[in-house]
Amino acid sequence: MTDYPSLHMTIDGQKVSGGGRRTFEVVNPATGETLAELPLAEAADLDRALEVAEKGFQIWRKSTAQERAAVLQGAARLMVERQEELACIATLEQGKPLAESRIEVMMNVGLFNFYAGECFRNYGRELVRPEESRSTVRWEPVGPVAAFAPWNFPLGNPGRKLGAPIAAGCSVILKSAEETPASALGVLQALLDAGLPKEVAQAVFGVPDEVSRHLLGSPIIRKLSFTGSTVVGKHLARLATENMQRTTMELGGHGPVLVFDDADVEKALATSVPGKYRNCGQVCVSPTRFIVQEDVFEKFRDGFIEGARNQQVGDGLADGTSMGPMANPRRPEAIDRFIADAVDKGAKLGAGGKRIGNQGYFYEPSVLFDVPLDAEIMNEEPFGPVAIVNPFRSEEEMIAEANRLPYGLAAYAWTSDVQRQRRLASQLEAGMVGINSHMIGGADSPFGGVKWSGHGSEDGIEGVKACMVTKAVHEG
Ligand code: NAD
Repeated sequence: MTDYPSLHMTIDGQKVSGGGRRTFEVVNPATGETLAELPLAEAADLDRALEVAEKGFQIWRKSTAQERAAVLQGAARLMVERQEELACIATLEQGKPLAESRIEVMMNVGLFNFYAGECFRNYGRELVRPEESRSTVRWEPVGPVAAFAPWNFPLGNPGRKLGAPIAAGCSVILKSAEETPASALGVLQALLDAGLPKEVAQAVFGVPDEVSRHLLGSPIIRKLSFTGSTVVGKHLARLATENMQRTTMELGGHGPVLVFDDADVEKALATSVPGKYRNCGQVCVSPTRFIVQEDVFEKFRDGFIEGARNQQVGDGLADGTSMGPMANPRRPEAIDRFIADAVDKGAKLGAGGKRIGNQGYFYEPSVLFDVPLDAEIMNEEPFGPVAIVNPFRSEEEMIAEANRLPYGLAAYAWTSDVQRQRRLASQLEAGMVGINSHMIGGADSPFGGVKWSGHGSEDGIEGVKACMVTKAVHEG
């Protein structure tokens, strides 16, 4: 069992803490106990980080593909060696079952190895021109990146935020969530230990609004990468326009799941139930609105309720836990509100609906059905362990319901009709579509949404390209 480490910021390779700085109490969501005090950045810390990031960019933009790839591959190897330690830290500060934290480490390993390959594939192109002249298009790193990562994937989010800029030749200042700092520091440390120059990647923590205003207010920062809620994303996107910073915005979702009469209902349930309660539903691509065709509605609803009741809720470090606590006290409060509002408006509660115990932030795996469209939970991202199961008649109605909301991150469908599968792939308004599957990601696959779910992608070749700009060079 790993001890929780002492906390710091990492600026210019130095561990920065103390010195009268404000602090934030990091809490174990399974017990409510304080794990450690996190130092928060003052303006002078951020100015220093900016100055160093500018230096880091000048160093790293000139690095070779081999150098970038070696760092990413080296960090991947170190994360494999440190898997247990990193996973334990992530579970201690975020609450998810240890098995999920271990997977997160391996997601980073896969991503860093994929990005290492991409370092060699930043191909430009030569345009067709008369013999005596030459025109080329090259890809160059965009510059220092400010990256803000949330707490739901304490290792995976920082891995995405750090990996892409490093593969592209940028420098990066990471502000990961104050609730889960040690995981982010662990990912950064693997990169530094693998030989990344200390100026290239740094980690700060602070009062989020202070940090984002300070960093985005600086012309040194050339790109914003944010994962979090749509509300905060819109605010940050506005700040980024002032200095014309490029943006990758990975925002909220409200995952529709269409289950048709011709679907393999057992398989849909076997995948959807663990998919819903993974990470206590605190996942932007979580399956949330189950849009079920009439003939299989009761079977699907009852199967879901049984699946919810069978979840093993407990400390993420305990054997057999399938669902840990929610990550912070804001989440059970929000879920209580969503459920009360839905029931008030006529929804039926099939399972769960309340907190568990008075220690930590545990919540019962919950199922609401026959939920009216005007319930808040039908319109706002719940980000918690609640499935909404509603009956529908026709394919047209089901697609209309799936596309009703301004969100467009992940959508899922279960049907054995091949023609329908193609119609759905084309008509669902989402950045990622899973058909007879909830696996919608992979290191090589662009991850991102449309509409209010944001723009730009992480992962895939798109993740690296998002940290680059084109330059056209015309020689006479
Ligand atoms: P929140 O919206 O205040 O924060 C979400 C994330 O954004 C946090 O990591 C926070 O540190 C960061 N943040 C907030 N204000 C910021 C600012 N001004 N500058 C920079 N970063 C800022 O609320 P929360 O209670 O932490 O999370 C609630 C909601 O956020 C959820 O309901 C969900 O919709 C969304 N969320 C989405 C994701 C995702 O993966 N897309 C992850 C976490 C939270």
